[in-house]
Amino acid sequence: MENKRSWRSVIKKAIIATVFIIACLYVFSILASGVTKNLDDYVYELPFEKGTSHRVVQGYGGLFSHKNTAALDFAMPVGTPVYAAREGIIYAFKHDSDEGGPLSQYKNKANYIIIKHSDGSFGCYWHLKKSGVAAKSGFVTKGQLIGYSGSTGFVLRPHLHFSVKRKLNYEKDSFVRTKFKTVEGILLLNNGTTYERPSD
Ligand SMILES: [Zn+2]
Repeated sequence: MENKRSWRSVIKKAIIATVFIIACLYVFSILASGVTKNLDDYVYELPFEKGTSHRVVQGYGGLFSHKNTAALDFAMPVGTPVYAAREGIIYAFKHDSDEGGPLSQYKNKANYIIIKHSDGSFGCYWHLKKSGVAAKSGFVTKGQLIGYSGSTGFVLRPHLHFSVKRKLNYEKDSFVRTKFKTVEGILLLNNGTTYERPSD
């Protein structure tokens, strides 16, 4: 009799644990966001100075502000030089803002540069510092200095947000994932990892 009762309690606990795990997985699957399968063949240059490294503090699909968004945030102090990851024509820029913070009300306060690539896609460089745009028109080569990083717009900390888009909206498949040349080879970048731009 005692035995039967203790077995029942074990089974009960097992059922409760299973339901709890399934519920957690369900919540996690809602919170985790997917990103596009689009992947560019082009090999991009890391958008910072040769021989320097920066850590990716939010990667593709990051839950802070990259939900369904194939974008990368590189941590860097305000004023760090930013270089074109791919050649193209300056399509648009903004550099008159001095406001930023961790609230979505700052979304439209980011300074930025958008470069149009020869395949029609756009390279987007976000959160630049006030007056931090160095290339305002015409053609820029891959690796050319284009501006200075900052902390304007919707940000937790100073960083450069970089993304490539086929269309300038926030739909999941407007984004393109891109590979970069790093000292460790040609890679897709991961959140939490530091990458160095080769010096050659
Ligand atoms: Zn970002």
